[in-house]
Amino acid sequence: MTVADHFPRIVLATGNAHKIAELRAILEPLLPGVELVPYGGPSPVEDGSTFLANALIKARAAHEATGLPALADDSGIAVTALGGAPGIHSARYAGTGRDDDNRALLLTRMAGETDRRAHFVCAAVLVADVASFEAVAEWPGEVLTEAEGEGGFGYDPVFRPAGEHRSAAAMTAEEKNGSSHRGLAFRALAERIGA
Ligand code: IMP
Repeated sequence: MTVADHFPRIVLATGNAHKIAELRAILEPLLPGVELVPYGGPSPVEDGSTFLANALIKARAAHEATGLPALADDSGIAVTALGGAPGIHSARYAGTGRDDDNRALLLTRMAGETDRRAHFVCAAVLVADVASFEAVAEWPGEVLTEAEGEGGFGYDPVFRPAGEHRSAAAMTAEEKNGSSHRGLAFRALAERIGA
């Protein structure tokens, strides 16, 4: 039995086009034969206090609306010198919902700070009728002093992964997915599902 025998169609409970592209690249090799369907329904209020709680809110909403098993992630960047901020509030840190505003605010808050440690977190979940599966992973690194690189999304241009000399935005999609919080969390989730 393969995952496709149990879950031939899975809805991806995110409206973020960058995340959908990353999730497809990560999941398609792990879940052969599974049709990954984008979710077009309304976004639920993400009022959980953890990444995992918010991922479950998104997946449950898409599962209830479509009747399909639903995959969701909730992710963000936690900065040590800022007490873990912006954390679960990463997407709306600057209040505008724009990635460039969020990055600018982070660089301003980190101006003059010598402790640059940060990590991305991703909580990945699958909610289905029969069961739910969860996995959480982190990607450690540092906040740069200025944006660098053209690829990626969100905070990628201002984040340098541990052991790297480039920002996450200067990595190829394959390189990023190979070590990122999202790649790690969804590979662990796929293993738990039985892939
Ligand atoms: P979510 O869609 O509520 O999970 O919000 C996640 C937010 O965290 C995004 O809008 C980005 O700002 C940030 N984020 C999460 N993962 C990444 C990543 O891989 N690179 C850059 N920023 C990310």
